[in-house]
Amino acid sequence: MRGGIRLFRVLGITISIDYTWFIVFFLFAWSLAYGYFPQKVPDLGVTAYLVMGAVASLFLFICVLIHEIAHSYTANRLGLDVKEITLFIFGGVAQLTREPDTPGKELKIAIAGPLASGGLAVGFYLLKLLIDGMYTGGVVQGVSAVVGFLSTINIVLIVFNMIPGFPLDGGRIMRAVWWAKTGSIREATRVASIIGKGFASLLIVFGFLQIISGLFIQGLWAVLIGVFLQQAAEGSYRQLLMKITLEGMKVSDIMTRNVVTVPAHIPLSTVVERFFFNYHFVSFPVLRDGRLVGLLTLNDVRKVDKERWHTTLVEEAMERISPDRVLHPEDSVLHALTKMIEDGVGRYPVVDQNGELVGILSRRDIMKTMEFKAELAGR
Ligand SMILES: [Zn+2]
Repeated sequence: MRGGIRLFRVLGITISIDYTWFIVFFLFAWSLAYGYFPQKVPDLGVTAYLVMGAVASLFLFICVLIHEIAHSYTANRLGLDVKEITLFIFGGVAQLTREPDTPGKELKIAIAGPLASGGLAVGFYLLKLLIDGMYTGGVVQGVSAVVGFLSTINIVLIVFNMIPGFPLDGGRIMRAVWWAKTGSIREATRVASIIGKGFASLLIVFGFLQIISGLFIQGLWAVLIGVFLQQAAEGSYRQLLMKITLEGMKVSDIMTRNVVTVPAHIPLSTVVERFFFNYHFVSFPVLRDGRLVGLLTLNDVRKVDKERWHTTLVEEAMERISPDRVLHPEDSVLHALTKMIEDGVGRYPVVDQNGELVGILSRRDIMKTMEFKAELAGR
């Protein structure tokens, strides 16, 4: 998954936005300022429409955020760790570290978002009634139009998200029901993902037809959303396949056992010549008196000036190993992979209960194993 820009933390969840959001934000503000609002409230100036477009887009962003937080908050309450949400214009992707283990939990998490949007729609609608009841005309007219738009757009969000294709909420709800009925999360995900991709393709075709017939902006919207949905449906299906493939596997099953280690007290120049050039590994566990004390990566070496390689010792340049920066032979591979992704690390040393190094496991090892298993399974 591509990274986004980190914004802030709410309820222990890091909120990021995807880069595409900026393009969509301007497209949205522009469509509102030049199309939607002048039609709704005809007698305002260009500046007023621009401000209304920007404010409405910003609040739309907040509404989408609240929708996603509702999902994540529910997931966290049910014991599934959500640490990060990446927002796209019409929704977000919560980085669930684990999939829900029962259809009931899946259903609750899926429905929380649309419920929050429903609440927002009603709230903005009541606010609009209140504003219209007090005064009409001038600036208030503009405020009323923005609030009215926000009420409508939350309904649009619900309708859009209830489309029964994975990974949209409707798809998740359908998956939960299918899962409860058949008992197979794999089958349920497959069906929900096929429907999701089918819907996305329809949306893209529809968008192109609109563009051809002159409705450029509407068409562009449909194509953009369709492409996003298609990728998301594919991505979430792969993710689940991966989880199923790695289920029950332990670190000791696939780790590399004969690890080449480096002593802590030799200079970097020696390590480069004797280890990096000879073995072509990008990192080596560092031992002092037979115990694991750190990890030396090519990057650590690169950080030190070349002239100082003769005088700098391995233990001065390496990353020290903290107790939570290692794996144990009994750990599940899925847990190991999740940890590597979360920490942004490519490999972890594996130590036994006595703190002795018994192997090393990298993301590449895990990917290789998955490919291998898929080959054996005949697809
Ligand atoms: Zn949702």
